[in-house]
Amino acid sequence: MLQDQLQRPLRDLRISVTDRCNFRCTYCMPFDHYDWIDKREILTYEEICRVVRLAVPLGVRKIRLTGGEPLVRRDLPDLVRQLAGIAGIEDIALTTNGSRLSGMAGALRDAGLRRINVSIDSLDPERFRRITKRGDLDDVLKGLFAAKETGLAPIKINAVIERCVNEEDILPLVEFGREHDFVMRFIEYMDVGTANAWRLERTVPKAEILERIGARYPLEPIGRGEGNAPAVDYAFRDGKGTVGIVASVTEPFCGTCSRGRLTADGRIVTCLFSRTGHDLKARLRSGTGDDEIREWMAAVWAGRTDRFSADRLHAIQSDDGYDPEQHDKIEMITLGG
Ligand code: SAM
Ligand code: SF4
Ligand code: SF4
Repeated sequence: MLQDQLQRPLRDLRISVTDRCNFRCTYCMPFDHYDWIDKREILTYEEICRVVRLAVPLGVRKIRLTGGEPLVRRDLPDLVRQLAGIAGIEDIALTTNGSRLSGMAGALRDAGLRRINVSIDSLDPERFRRITKRGDLDDVLKGLFAAKETGLAPIKINAVIERCVNEEDILPLVEFGREHDFVMRFIEYMDVGTANAWRLERTVPKAEILERIGARYPLEPIGRGEGNAPAVDYAFRDGKGTVGIVASVTEPFCGTCSRGRLTADGRIVTCLFSRTGHDLKARLRSGTGDDEIREWMAAVWAGRTDRFSADRLHAIQSDDGYDPEQHDKIEMITLGG
């Protein structure tokens, strides 16, 4: 079985289908100006499917489509349908800001999508607008409920919690999830990319998020889904569902990280915090054969030593502390969250 230098297999492939986005979330891409990837450099659906077919023998079983905002890419259900037809792929999921979901949920479900994560950081329309800069909460909620009506399940809601920005949204989001049968997933604010000027003080640690929720709705720990999911899950003791917390900063999970990433412009990236990627597109577009590309992909994974979040925690706890500016990273919208 293919393993990296830390004995981690390759199981999941996160595919960024575009770097374009109709929101400008302050924690993700607070630029006024960003040079979008030239359309000709973006992988076609055919190229993406070829990569996935080559990745299955290496161990990949799960696909997550992301971006940028994946639903701004034209005909996304076509890609889902093609991916669903690839032997060996057991699970296709999507992460979206939900703004275009209401008109597309049915087509995505019919194409073979089963699981969906919708990002909603606040249920207060003004705060939602302030965080996303361009988002309209009503549109997103319409998309969320349209997805529910089509039978997509489970539907998870991702919320990034940032100090002094949306801490007071934690309980309303929990209550919303419990009422409508959505699974809330709270995400610690991370130093992805370099544009968000992240500082540790802005991260609300998992322990604090849990304390806020548990004080009102007592919780029972469940653990990580399949033992290696980014989120640690907790069940509400009253039986009304579960909540998950992704604690990349305070409880890193690099030891079990089986996630590779494919950027919209065709680079293989082995960590969310990578400085750079491995140029797969050049190989796809130069007539290189399948076997050679598969071997190259295997070699990239076999050489992987990434454990950025574990190292960051170590630095945070050391006397020198952690300086996010010491490390260049690919922006989140480019590599796919
Ligand atoms: N546009 C889609 C969306 O927002 O759901 C998909 C791409 S987005 C980059 C994927 C996820 O990354 C979202 O849930 C978003 O909230 C999360 N994210 C972005 N920047 C983050 C940060 N600095 N810290 C933690 N999560 C972040
Ligand atoms: Fe766009 Fe998603 Fe990033 Fe927000 S988090 S700016 S919706 S890619
Ligand atoms: Fe995986 Fe990198 Fe995140 Fe660690 S920091 S869990 S290696 S993506």
